[in-house]
Amino acid sequence: MPEDLVSMIDETHEQTLESWVESANAADGDFPIQNLPFGRFRARGAADEWRLGVAIGDSILDLVEAGLIEKRESGAVFGWPRTRRVALRKALSRGLRRGGSARPDWAEALTPMGEAELALPCEIRGYTDFYTGIHHATAVGRLFRPDNPLLPNYKWVPIGYHGRTSSILPSGRAILRPRGQVMPAGADRPVVEPSRRLDYELELGIVIGPGNALGQPIPIDQAEDHIVGLTLLNDWSARDLQAFEYQPLGPFLAKNFATTLSPWVVTLEALAPFRRPFERAPTEPQPLPYLDGPWNRAHGQVAIGLEVFIDTERMRAQGMPAVRLSRSSALDAYWTMAQLVAHHTVNGCNLQTGDLLGTGTLSGPDEGQGGSLLELSRGGRQPLVLPGGESRSFLEDGDCVSFAASCTAPGFRRIGFGSCTGVIVGQTGSAS
Ligand code: CA
Repeated sequence: MPEDLVSMIDETHEQTLESWVESANAADGDFPIQNLPFGRFRARGAADEWRLGVAIGDSILDLVEAGLIEKRESGAVFGWPRTRRVALRKALSRGLRRGGSARPDWAEALTPMGEAELALPCEIRGYTDFYTGIHHATAVGRLFRPDNPLLPNYKWVPIGYHGRTSSILPSGRAILRPRGQVMPAGADRPVVEPSRRLDYELELGIVIGPGNALGQPIPIDQAEDHIVGLTLLNDWSARDLQAFEYQPLGPFLAKNFATTLSPWVVTLEALAPFRRPFERAPTEPQPLPYLDGPWNRAHGQVAIGLEVFIDTERMRAQGMPAVRLSRSSALDAYWTMAQLVAHHTVNGCNLQTGDLLGTGTLSGPDEGQGGSLLELSRGGRQPLVLPGGESRSFLEDGDCVSFAASCTAPGFRRIGFGSCTGVIVGQTGSAS
C-alpha cells in the first residue's frame, strides 16, 4: 500500500474491531464500527430540532449526549478541518468498541433507528450536478445523437449544471409525479400533462466540508480537504419534459421537482481503505494540469459498489421482495471527486460548507449496468419484465426505487451507505 495512504488508515479501520452495540457486529450490516457515518435525526413524531448523530449498527449515537461535541457545535462539524474530524472519529471508535473507553452514559445516548426520523444529513447550501458517468453520457447521447453520442468537450471539462436545493428531500419522502410541457410525436404544439417517462438516476452525492473564499480556487491536491464524505443521491428525471426543454440551457423542470438524498454521510476517513488509482488510458485526452496531481493519480477513485432495486405496488401487495434492476461501480466515473472540486472552483467560485455535488448517473459499460431506466429500457423501447409479470419502461405510480451501496476490500470490514428510497405518487385532478 502506498505510503501516503497508509497514513490515512489507522486503528479505526482494524478489521477485528467489534462494538458493544451488538447489532454493529452483523457481518452484512452497513454500519459497523469501522464506518461511523454522520446524519441528523430526532425521535419519530417529535417536533424537536434535528440532532447530529453517528450510525452504529441499528442505532444512532447522539454526539451531544455522548459529550463529544457541544450543542452549539452541531451545525459546524461538517465545516471542521479534517484533522479535527479524524480526532472525533478516533474518540467515537474508542468509545464504541468492545472493552473501549465509553462513558457509562453512552448507552443512554443511543436511539434505535426504528424510533428515529432521519433528516437530510445537513442543511444543503448549494447543489451542483455533474455528469461523470461516461457510460451513461454515451448511452443517453446515443439515444439523441446516434452518430455523435459524446460531445467533444466531455473528455476535457467535467460537465455540470447548477441544480435546485429547495427540493432535495430526505430518503423515504414520496415523490409527486411532475407535470409539464411535453411535445407529442408529430405534433406542432406541446401539451401540459403529468410526465409519462419518469425515471431515476443513480448518483453519489459529495458533501462539501470547509469552503473556499470567493476568488480562491482549490488546487486539486487540497480538494479532498474540502470534502466531508459521500451519500447516495437520486436525481429523479422526467425524460419527456427533459427532451423538450433541455436545449439550449440544459435541464430545468425535468429535474428540479425532487432529488432524494440518503441520510448518512460516509466520511472520506471511512472510505480510505477503498481508494483506487485514477487512470486515464494513454489513448484518451489527459486531464489538464489543474485536474491532475499525484494524490489524484494514486488514490483519486473510490471502489463503491452500487445497486438499484424496485418494488411495485402489486409486488408489495403480493408480499414479493424488491428486485434488483442494476449493479454498477463508482469506479466507472470519468472524473474523480477531487477533479470535480478543483474544476468547480477553478474560476474562483466559492464552495460552502453543506454544498452538495452530484456525480451524475453512475452506469457501467455492460448490459444491465445502466443507472437509469432510460438506459435499461433503451429509451423505453425494451420494457423490463419484473417478477410477477409486470413490465416497466419508466416509473409507474406506486413504484418504490431504492439505492444501496457498499465498499469491500481484502483485510477490511465491509461498510455500507444505508438506503436512498422514494415512492412515486400520482397526480390527482385533471391535466391542464
Ligand atoms: Ca443527473
